[in-house]
Amino acid sequence: MRTHVLVVEDEPAMRRALALNLTARGYRVSVAEDGTTALNAAASGAPDVIVLDLGLPDLDGMDIIRAVRGYSRTPIVVLSGRAGSGDKVDALDAGADDYVTKPFDVNELVARLRAATRRAGSDDAHTLIRIGHTAIDLAGRTVTRSGPDGQPERVTLTPTEWQLLEVLLTHPGRLISQRQLLSELRGQPGYTDSSYLRLYIAQLRHKLEDEPSRPRHLLTEPGMGYRYQP
Ligand code: CA
Repeated sequence: MRTHVLVVEDEPAMRRALALNLTARGYRVSVAEDGTTALNAAASGAPDVIVLDLGLPDLDGMDIIRAVRGYSRTPIVVLSGRAGSGDKVDALDAGADDYVTKPFDVNELVARLRAATRRAGSDDAHTLIRIGHTAIDLAGRTVTRSGPDGQPERVTLTPTEWQLLEVLLTHPGRLISQRQLLSELRGQPGYTDSSYLRLYIAQLRHKLEDEPSRPRHLLTEPGMGYRYQP
């Protein structure tokens, strides 16, 4: 499938040149000539990547970056006539992925678009964590495992199980103390009691490990805490 790029640029000649060049290189291109149109197109068109000119007639480019970042991780490559490094830092801080100063070479822009979309794709892949035959998507809050017939089946976790699992999985290889995990349970019944922790971890193993009685990934460190071993 062709990569869909949204080009946001108010100068007609530059907009046309970008659209022609990117189409010629295999991109599906949509264009917006001002910030309002850009925000609508970004929300409704679900582009794979956005090329954003910072100097627009109606909205500040920085505000567009922040608005898009409010709901999506779509890569944004900024085009700017301002070469100052302060602008560059501001744009990257606001959530842009890369920055190209005008005048630029189209091949360089295309290389940066490729890199930005590749990074975005691999980020998605990283959120899928495997425990044996179970695949966990932390961001999407889904767990899938292959059933006895080899067909994928959904596994349901409780909010508490997600809380504990998230702490463990985001610290691969690290010992997480009972106290740290119990603090995640604050507000739940029995949150100061480590036997509740044992219960929750046992439930997680039962749902996620291939052999719950001989866990290979959700490990107990006796007297200390728990460890997620990738
Ligand atoms: Ca402009």
